Amino acid sequence: MTSRPDNLVIAVDGPAASGKGTVAKALSRHYGLPHMDTGMLYRSVALSLWRFGGDAGNPFEAVRAVDEIGNIDPDDEELRSETVGELASRVSAYPAVRKALLARQQAFAAQPGGAVLDGRDIGTVIAPDAHAKLFVTASAQVRAERRHKEITGRGVDAHFEEVLADIRARDERDAGRAAAPLVPAQDADQLDTSELGVDDAIAAAIDLVEAALVRRS
Ligand code: C5P
Repeated sequence: MTSRPDNLVIAVDGPAASGKGTVAKALSRHYGLPHMDTGMLYRSVALSLWRFGGDAGNPFEAVRAVDEIGNIDPDDEELRSETVGELASRVSAYPAVRKALLARQQAFAAQPGGAVLDGRDIGTVIAPDAHAKLFVTASAQVRAERRHKEITGRGVDAHFEEVLADIRARDERDAGRAAAPLVPAQDADQLDTSELGVDDAIAAAIDLVEAALVRRS
């Protein structure tokens, strides 16, 4: 292993179902670093709004829901649902919601020893000075296949074409919004997982981080 900084920060960004969560968790295990799935913060805001009857079309109510996310059980199954993911994509477009979630993400990234964070704007906004930045992608078709398998694997009915349309709609919203759009940081390494199995994607991610550390040393 390459010599690494004491406070190694790894940013993993990418669209829905690209494999970024799997890659981020594996990097966190490999380097012994704590991991934050920042999508869960936006999903918690969305679930809180939904459950407590707030209006996702109203940015003020969405910001108020940020204060309530402590009441959401991180193991709540509903957090991973498509409905909540879709709602999260809507509320995450509000600059005030992003601002209200900024400090806790930056504090996580700045903790002694370092951290791995995954999301959409880690390398661009949350941790622009991260030592390694990965932008994980896969074709919309492959991501929809993965998401479809995951949903039906949970015993939930889903039509492939609808899952694909949802993925495309979410990509468009995440990439097209004015506040922290989903774009690779200029200094990010792209990792396309379309043709890779899980083990190969993880091995490729570790190689990219190692190469980034060598570049910085
Ligand atoms: O990654 P995940 O699908 O759980 O994220 C749910 C939604 O939260 C995304 O569609 C995206 O709109 C939003 N998000 C974000 N910034 C992040 C993480 C997630 O805008 N850092």
